[in-house]
Amino acid sequence: MQPLKIYNTLSREKELFTPIHENHVGLYVCGPTVYNYAHLGNVRTFTSFDILNRYLLHIGYKVRYVRNITDVGHLVGDGDEGEDKIGKMAKLEKLEPMEIVHRFTQDFHQVLEKFNLLPPNIEPTATGHIVEQIETTKSLIEKGLAYESNGSVYFDIEAYNKNGGNYGHLSGRVIEDLLTETRDLDGVGEKRSPLDFALWKKAAPEHIMRWPSPWGEGFPGWHLECTCMSHKYLGDTFDIHGGGMDLKFPHHECEIAQAKGAYDRAPVRYWMHTNMLTVNGQKMSKSLGNSFLPAELIAGNHPLLDQAYSPMTVRFFMLQSQYRSTLDFSNDALKAAQKGYKKIANGLRIIKKLAYPSDITANPDAAQEKEINDAIQGCYDGMNDDLNTAVAIAHLFTLLKKINSLYTGGLAFESISAETFSNLQRSYISILEDVLGIIEEVPADMNGLTDELLQLYKGFKESRQYDKVDEIRGAFKSAGLLIKDMKNSIDWGYEE
Ligand SMILES: [Zn+2]
Repeated sequence: MQPLKIYNTLSREKELFTPIHENHVGLYVCGPTVYNYAHLGNVRTFTSFDILNRYLLHIGYKVRYVRNITDVGHLVGDGDEGEDKIGKMAKLEKLEPMEIVHRFTQDFHQVLEKFNLLPPNIEPTATGHIVEQIETTKSLIEKGLAYESNGSVYFDIEAYNKNGGNYGHLSGRVIEDLLTETRDLDGVGEKRSPLDFALWKKAAPEHIMRWPSPWGEGFPGWHLECTCMSHKYLGDTFDIHGGGMDLKFPHHECEIAQAKGAYDRAPVRYWMHTNMLTVNGQKMSKSLGNSFLPAELIAGNHPLLDQAYSPMTVRFFMLQSQYRSTLDFSNDALKAAQKGYKKIANGLRIIKKLAYPSDITANPDAAQEKEINDAIQGCYDGMNDDLNTAVAIAHLFTLLKKINSLYTGGLAFESISAETFSNLQRSYISILEDVLGIIEEVPADMNGLTDELLQLYKGFKESRQYDKVDEIRGAFKSAGLLIKDMKNSIDWGYEE
């Protein structure tokens, strides 16, 4: 097993990862609230945890990856008062809340599939765990860590801290500062302290999503679902909990408090948080007009985008930064990533075709062998250093040079052993495809082709029958596809 180090938000240090149960990892990641289209920040966060999941699998762990769907309880403004995000959208669209949930869950899955993310092993929903949330709330009341007030139930931060809790530890917040900073009028008159947060909320008459409970009709608070579902599927204490850094406070802080209160244990060994996205150096936000959707990025139909970028280009671009650094989207950076991706994917095509000749006598050059083996080790060292995909990719480019030289004859097969060649071949393919999830893609403008045309195109690429270009062009043209699009695709196919 590789000695993997990950940065633990709880200790603010890189720590050697040791699982609770040998060879097994329990991983929980906060999923999306499905009231709107998946945004790019989601894609970055979940791609980062996809890399974690993939790398753990690659180095031999069995992983149980749980990522929830929030389909109730997340209120507009992220606080304890106001409309439910899903309920609000349902009213706007004149649909059932579950129609909203269904539509945007499907969109979320489709987007992540485009970017080649592996699905989690369990994807539980908040509405599917109302019973568990009511039970946990009851037990927190019995323990004196929560109280009912006017049909709602709140977690009592003061009581929790008096019982050895340490609210604010994860995010580095101090209770006194929080109290002076807070202008939060949520639940005013109902809460004992403005820091207390809702476990259960009484449903106002106009609130659509509601369930019966010991405290009357209502719905669960936003933070509770993750505590109940991670506990149900991963146990009292599990290995890794992840999410975007905006969830550190209050969401994850509240999760820790609820779990420690209910199950008398710190729920998580390693807390991991991904950094933000920016666009041309500015925070991505709707009000600044610099927010575009993954679909717009792929189609290239947003005023800020010079062109379309394929999902693999975007994925490759994201992985050129480590998950804890901010990631800045700009046309220049994406265009550079497009070039980089094409080169690296071209290496995949070549290395899959190359075979070590059986009729040569190897006369290995120690320096060449060392360069290759060091670069392979460099990929693993990068991944082991808190999943530094940027470092791993830099070493893949070293390997790519060797692959290209073997292909063009600049580097003779004789100068490396058969073993080094197979190590190079195996590592390049598995680090790219299995660990980074970077695969050869059919260019974006090839989407929507009939099977027949796709086969023709693939056949052309594999056999390199360049004399067939005109025939293919003709077939594409009669299918109503633009010559320009097709030409780009064919050019893409030529590259080596
Ligand atoms: Zn959560």
